[in-house]
Amino acid sequence: MSMKKNWNFYTRVIHEAQSPMDWQGSTLPPIFQTASHLHSTAQNLSETFAGKTGDHIYMRLTNPTNNVLERKLAGLEGGRGAVVMASGMAAITNACMALLRAGDEFVAGNSLFMSTYVLFANVFKKYGITVHFVESTDLGAIGEAINGRTRFVYVETIGNPKMDVPDIEAVAAVAHEHGLPLLVDNTLATPYLCRPLELGADVVIHSTTKYLSGHGDATGGVVIDRGDFDWSGGRFPDLAPFVERKEDLAYLDKVWREHHINFGTTQAPLHSYLTILGLDTLAIRMERHLANAWKVAAFLKDQPEVRWINYPGMANHPCRETADKQFSGRGFGAVLTFGLRDQDACFRFIDGLEMIYHLANLGDCKSLVIHPYSSQYLSFTEETRSALSITPDLIRLSVGIEAAEDICADIRQALDRL
Ligand SMILES: *Cc1c(COP(=O)(O)O)cnc(C)c1O
Repeated sequence: MSMKKNWNFYTRVIHEAQSPMDWQGSTLPPIFQTASHLHSTAQNLSETFAGKTGDHIYMRLTNPTNNVLERKLAGLEGGRGAVVMASGMAAITNACMALLRAGDEFVAGNSLFMSTYVLFANVFKKYGITVHFVESTDLGAIGEAINGRTRFVYVETIGNPKMDVPDIEAVAAVAHEHGLPLLVDNTLATPYLCRPLELGADVVIHSTTKYLSGHGDATGGVVIDRGDFDWSGGRFPDLAPFVERKEDLAYLDKVWREHHINFGTTQAPLHSYLTILGLDTLAIRMERHLANAWKVAAFLKDQPEVRWINYPGMANHPCRETADKQFSGRGFGAVLTFGLRDQDACFRFIDGLEMIYHLANLGDCKSLVIHPYSSQYLSFTEETRSALSITPDLIRLSVGIEAAEDICADIRQALDRL
């Protein structure tokens, strides 16, 4: 089915890359639950390996259900192509590793998802790769951290858990000035709130586990390539064979051919199916998530036990202006942090909640809380926790799509137990 380019996002989340007549009239793609695909002749398999037929070989390489999700997500983000993977971390690992060799460096925002931080700071280090963490909102610092060995710049649209919002257009301009691509983790914003590729970013990454699937039922990740970065500038000699083979999609081909296939970061087609199902309601879910987050933030502001709130929508938030511009008034994300008296108060609050779930996830349609200091960041040194603004008094709340008054009422009755 041909995609009408002028369709509104609300329509596109449902109809992007739909092809029911290729699926025997099914309105959802079949789950192709097969490790491998049959070939009618030896000649056909040989041509398939040569990349001439587009047929499928083996699930670790490609899968038809996964391909549907790839087309949908590339379309929604405005990219030329996408590869889905087993998790957001698989996508981040492959997206970065495709550009890195021993001795290389890169620049990243200092407010990152916990595992991304560990991957960059500790794991890559073992392979001789150096990350320079900077304030993602400090363009001067980004420029200064770039040197002759830098391979890319990496930021999150809304830093988790610091809730900082870099100006993607401006960060992309700094990266491009140095001939570098900008990679953006757009998990917390989703393409409903922000489309980084349209703002100048070159690669978008998601943990589809979060808002895109929306129901906490499937892990997944995706790397999306805008497909027009110029890899010939001299910094990327290892991209040359891929440019020769795939031209504009050279980077995505490297991600797929060199890393995704050989690291074995395969997405289960069932997870792609569940994510496709979730995508149908992404726009209305996000509309509600964003409206609820606004209401909950306003409510929290008035509770005497709440000492501070970190939500880019607050009038005095340092990133409010950037968020207004970048998110076109649609909202400010639906994850926020707030401070109670101390760790003991946080534990009492969490234990007192009756509806809001206490678990390690975000972007679910259900409201979720966690005390990051004593859980995800437990093994971090005090110095690192403080550098990442993970304090003992901090609660992270992922605002769901229940009735806002019920979310607020649950928070209020839990605060009463402090
Ligand atoms: C959850 C998350 C990830 C990691 O995704 P997984 O699917 O859990 O591997 C990466 N970035 C952000 C911003 C996330 O919230």
